[in-house]
Amino acid sequence: MKKKKNLYGKAKDELNAQKNEAKTTKANAEKENVKLKNAKAQKNSEVQKLTDEEKELQSKIDEYQAEMDRIEAEFKRIAAEEAAKSSATNKNVNFNGELAWPCPNYTRISSYFGGRASPGGGVGSRNHKGMDLAAPHGSSIVAAESGTVILVSNTCTHDYPKTVATKCGCGGGYGNYVMISHGNGLVSLYGHCSSISVSKGQTVTRGQHIANVGTTGYSTGNHLHFGLLLNGSYIDPEPYIK
Ligand SMILES: [Zn+2]
Ligand SMILES: [Zn+2]
Repeated sequence: MKKKKNLYGKAKDELNAQKNEAKTTKANAEKENVKLKNAKAQKNSEVQKLTDEEKELQSKIDEYQAEMDRIEAEFKRIAAEEAAKSSATNKNVNFNGELAWPCPNYTRISSYFGGRASPGGGVGSRNHKGMDLAAPHGSSIVAAESGTVILVSNTCTHDYPKTVATKCGCGGGYGNYVMISHGNGLVSLYGHCSSISVSKGQTVTRGQHIANVGTTGYSTGNHLHFGLLLNGSYIDPEPYIK
């Protein structure tokens, strides 16, 4: 009888042990499940965060493009006005190879006229309305031809390299700039200057110092943006200065 009782007790203990083991396994499985859920939630929030950052960057790129479009349309309007003032008989003068290099100390052409990848990345190809001459900070910028200064913007103090995220919108992205009308429908533009030494209405001669190279406005490094407009349209400056 005693033996039987002992056996019964043993069996009961074993059963209890098995029960406890099953409980522990279940508890562990639940713990793992919670861990997994947490990891998933964290991953989702990181993906969400990235998407927000990307969205913000995209909206900054859109904002920058809108600013540039606005100022480039304004430059066009002013250049067309100037062209209208030029005498009709002189409008088709061939300037090819006739202009002076606007930044004699330039080290390289860092960007050409026309389609290019945006310097900020992610915008895709956009239409670059001039050519960029990389040059050390402070290099002299000269008038490509004699003419009259018709526009000066000189308020950007953010003379340091920028990204889309850190850009300033001064001068519609062109920072400090000078525009000169040469007559015959030809207008030149000098952008991202660190400083400007001429004022609106002043006449300048070919090769005269007008400004210094900088990286004001939306610019990723020291360079001169040299733009040319003929009869109110942007043209490739390269053949004109070579
Ligand atoms: Zn600025
Ligand atoms: Zn440029």
